[in-house]
Amino acid sequence: MERTLILLKPDCIQRRLAGRILSRFEDKGFNIVAMKLMQITPDLARQHYAEHVAKGWYPALEKFITGGPVVAAIVEGLEAIRVVREMVGATSGLKAAAGTIRGDYSSSRQMNLVHASDGSEAATREINLYFKPEELVAFEPTITPWLRASDET
Ligand code: ADP
Ligand code: MG
Repeated sequence: MERTLILLKPDCIQRRLAGRILSRFEDKGFNIVAMKLMQITPDLARQHYAEHVAKGWYPALEKFITGGPVVAAIVEGLEAIRVVREMVGATSGLKAAAGTIRGDYSSSRQMNLVHASDGSEAATREINLYFKPEELVAFEPTITPWLRASDET
């Protein structure tokens, strides 16, 4: 079982797409074990996007990501880190495959609606950046026996 961090970015909230995009992860069978509406500060943005801070386009990214509320959530499931990244799609909405979230809803390289951790190290780091341990609510959904066979773990 893996956990990964997703952010519904400010464009997603402003465009009223949060429900539809969360539904994709619910429909797939993933479990949401933490979630909150929040506003990212410039300091948090710099920590989150540490790998991009030195890039010429970082100031534009910071302005965008701090420019309105986001929903942060922790998504749990088998191979969740890779599967969620694949559901999100390539960075630019213009390049992302049809059927992915970005491919279906975004026509921008920057305003691409959703963030997802890109590996297990990033997932751990980002979960700890956005959530305190006591904000997680681990639970076993009653529907689990109808989502996968008992030997699939
Ligand atoms: P991803 O979110 O697919 O992992 P990156 O890590 O490359 O993409 O970039 C982080 C975020 O920065 C992107 O999701 C996007 O919102 C923004 N971004 C990426 N490239 C650019 C760019 N060239 N100009 C402006 N914003 C960008
Ligand atoms: Mg990235």
